[in-house]
Formats: sequence, structure tokens, C-alpha cells
Amino acid sequence: MLEKTGVATQEDLALVMPSKERLAKGAVAVIECFQRIPCNPCYTSCKRGAIIEFKDINDRPIINADKCNGCGICVSNCPGLAIVVVDETYSDTEALVKIPYEFLPLPQEGGYVTGLDREGKPVCRAKVVKVLNTKAQDRTPVVSLAVPKELSMVVRCMSLDDFYSDNTMVCRCEEVTLGEVRELIRKGYHTIDEIKRISRAGMGPCQGRTCRQLIMQELARATNQKMSEMPMSTFRPPAKPIKLGAVISSLGGGECNE
Ligand code: SF4
Ligand code: SF4
Repeated sequence: MLEKTGVATQEDLALVMPSKERLAKGAVAVIECFQRIPCNPCYTSCKRGAIIEFKDINDRPIINADKCNGCGICVSNCPGLAIVVVDETYSDTEALVKIPYEFLPLPQEGGYVTGLDREGKPVCRAKVVKVLNTKAQDRTPVVSLAVPKELSMVVRCMSLDDFYSDNTMVCRCEEVTLGEVRELIRKGYHTIDEIKRISRAGMGPCQGRTCRQLIMQELARATNQKMSEMPMSTFRPPAKPIKLGAVISSLGGGECNE
């Protein structure tokens, strides 16, 4: 799968994920470099000896996570953009993810961008905490993003486009925008059921299949809650309008064209 799509599978990732215990101690590099290629700047740039010495230039990098302090030097030196640093101790609700970013313009510190997953799909709004650009020709700028903690192992890239502007339509069935949801949160409605009942977001035919998750993300971000600990809305199957005649005939009432 990786060879065909360039996107690592969960099995690939399981081989390189730091342990929960190590993540709980602070920032650590996650090296998502899965193929044997003649390349070793990650090893030569790490002054802490956290990347185990290559016996062969084609070796895949192996990290001794206990020696890594998450400095990010290897992120900037890796030509394959295969390394990120993850700090799950950044705050109660957010993780800091340092990602390599090769496009111009660079984002502004303090601004917001859209966090993308390994396939380039938008997954969250992320705050730009720091932009490190040494301007050395062979170094990649490193952008530190604050992302929802549960997405620390999901966000691996970013887009300057704000997919999460106030005009973004979160509930297409009932035409509710993200701006309207944000306004309700500002007014003190802090559960998804409250927002659903007032705005009707999630009450259309799809019963919240898309908007539920988006509203939960916005609520979590705005109220510093963990999505996993927030109350969910009532789940109902998707609804589809049917003719009254179909109901009558299903009750044995014979043919009806109304
Ligand atoms: S983040 Fe710093 S300490 Fe960790 S492996 Fe990279 S260069 Fe070494
Ligand atoms: S520098 Fe990057 S691409 Fe090269 S071996 Fe190290 S992690 Fe892989």
C-alpha cells in the first residue's frame, strides 16, 4: 500500500510510534521513513545521538526515544520530509506538532491554518505557534502547530487555506455555517444537543453524519474540552422522505397514489 499510494498504513505506523509512556514525558521525534534509501542526514544532524548509527547508508533510521529531546533539528535536515516532532504535554487539550513545510509564503506565527492528515485531507484548525526558518539552502522551515491532542498522530501537513472560516457550511442539510455555530458557543451553548436544537444542525436527512464531528471539534477547541469526554448527541438513522401511499400500503391498506 505504501509503495502504491505513498501513504503509510496503520501497520507501518505501529512500527515507528513512540510508546505512550515516552509521549507522556514530552516532545519526541517520530520518524516516518519506511523505505531503504541512500540517505542519512537525520543521523548526522542529531547531536544527542538519539538516532542509532547507520551500519549502511541505506539503513532505515531507528530512534532511541529516551535520548531525544524533540529539538527538531532532524526535522529541518531530512530531505524526505519524513520526520515530525510530537509533544503531547503541550497543554491539557492540545499537542504541539512540529512539521517540515517547504512552501511559500510561510504561515504567520499566531495565525491559524488548516491541519491536514497524511493523505492531505483537512482534519482541524491549527494555531501556528512558531515558524523556524534558518534560510540555509539545505534546511527546511519547521512550523510548530497546536492541534487537538487526539490528532497528534494524525496531523502531518498544513494548508494556509482556512477551510474553517466563518462561512464554512458545517450542516449542509439545514444550511448552518461555522460562524453561526461559533456565535451560539459564544452565547453559552456548550453541548452539541443545545446547538442542534437551536440551529437545527444535525436534524436534516443525514442526521449529522458530517456536521456532528465538525461541531464537536469546534466546541472542543472553543471550550478547552476533550472530544472523547464530551456528551454526544442522539444518534438516529439517516432519514429519507417517503410518500404517504408507501406507508399505507406497508400497513396492508392496498394501493394508494397519494
Ligand atoms: S528531535 Fe533532536 S534530539 Fe530528537 S532525534 Fe531529532 S535531532 Fe535528535
Ligand atoms: S534523513 Fe529523512 S529521508 Fe533520509 S533516512 Fe533520515 S528520515 Fe529517512
